[in-house]
Amino acid sequence: NRGEPMKVYLNGKFVDKEDAKISIYDHGLLYGDGVFEGIRAYDGVIFKLKEHVDRLYDSAKSILLEMPLSKEEMEKVVVETVRINNLRDAYIRLVVTRGIGDLGLDPRKCSNPTVFCIAEPMNPLLGESGIRAITSSIRRLPVDVLNPAVKSLNYLNSILAKIQANYAGVDEAFLLDSEGYVVEGTGDNIFVVKNGIIKTPPVASSVLRGITRDTVIDIAKELGYIVVEERITLHELYVADEVFITGTAAELVPVIEIDGRVINGGKIGEITRRLKEEFNRVKRILGTKVYD
Ligand code: PMP
Repeated sequence: NRGEPMKVYLNGKFVDKEDAKISIYDHGLLYGDGVFEGIRAYDGVIFKLKEHVDRLYDSAKSILLEMPLSKEEMEKVVVETVRINNLRDAYIRLVVTRGIGDLGLDPRKCSNPTVFCIAEPMNPLLGESGIRAITSSIRRLPVDVLNPAVKSLNYLNSILAKIQANYAGVDEAFLLDSEGYVVEGTGDNIFVVKNGIIKTPPVASSVLRGITRDTVIDIAKELGYIVVEERITLHELYVADEVFITGTAAELVPVIEIDGRVINGGKIGEITRRLKEEFNRVKRILGTKVYD
């Protein structure tokens, strides 16, 4: 974009990135009180923008945060943030916090939500080849504590698992639920393949209902594969024929080693490869066009 400063959306205005400042009394910062989305644009198409905005509004409703914009206005904010920076491929971060309050946590003291949107170039987060992972000793938040279906600003649970992955010298950590079933990665959903059947944890478990996850389930079914949404044990993970993760930042990435167990001889599996190919095709089509 010709060396011009990046612009971001903040509370109704587009401002230079360096000038985008929010208060230290914002409860998004003080308490993680807010919701967000990570979205991608591929070749001028914002992938499943409507679905992301729907999920954002569901997250907000769940925490009783009243949105200051309509869904249509929010979609426009995202489209404009990409357009104003002349981006075709972008990673987009859309955030709504409870806004400025006092030092207490009571949200009634916050009168106006803070809304901001950032769009910048970003390559797939974990690269294209297979990744190595561990399972974390940090358990995923149970649905009756803080449901991971709410995409809130409170990410310490994932961050603590990521720190373990860093110390282990691997790319990603998978979290188990409080019963010991494998639920998701720090910022991605997990799939295992065994004897041609594709399996991922159900939406009612301790997972975020990933938009990439749902897309990959649709693709797999269209290609004629059987997809089941069921709990996954550690044993199933270790002896899977193929394992892969999905997420907006990661896209679709094969997992080739978990806790020292090598998956598929350390190579991308056949079904994973087919799904990735098809995902790479549809990701440029399914969504909202930025430019006419
Ligand atoms: N789980 C978690 C915890 C995440 O943060 C994300 C990223 N939003 C995902 C799963 C994947 O969701 P999506 O495909 O919608 O990016």
